[in-house]
Amino acid sequence: MEKIIVMITIYFLIFNMRYSHQREIIMNIIYSTKSHPNADWIYKRARKLIPNISLGTIYRNLKLLEKDCHIATIFDGSVARFDANMEKHDHLKCKVCGSLTDLSLDYDFKSVVEKKFNFIADEIDMTIIGTCSKHK
Ligand SMILES: [Zn+2]
Ligand SMILES: [Zn+2]
Repeated sequence: MEKIIVMITIYFLIFNMRYSHQREIIMNIIYSTKSHPNADWIYKRARKLIPNISLGTIYRNLKLLEKDCHIATIFDGSVARFDANMEKHDHLKCKVCGSLTDLSLDYDFKSVVEKKFNFIADEIDMTIIGTCSKHK
């Protein structure tokens, strides 16, 4: 009986190790870029390191990473993109190539909104759409 318990424990340890290893690889992929990749891009990168990984596993790990506050999800239209930058920030979105760039403005939008519109803003989540420097 003891032997079986030890075997089961080892099995679960290996099982968990495999999963946390996959999660770490996926997290490293997201942390290695500032491009705010989508799940497909992450999947292609992850497959080079873990050839048998499935897209479902990628999605499951992305959800867990978000739940544990390691990454943030940004919705770009209907496409979820993933952000390793957990500091409060906004984005510049290029309408030509779709690039998303982090933006931090030292500007107190909340007090401007309160003064001008008599509205208490809890949160300001801003995406500025335009054309990036690649297309000049
Ligand atoms: Zn662009
Ligand atoms: Zn960002």
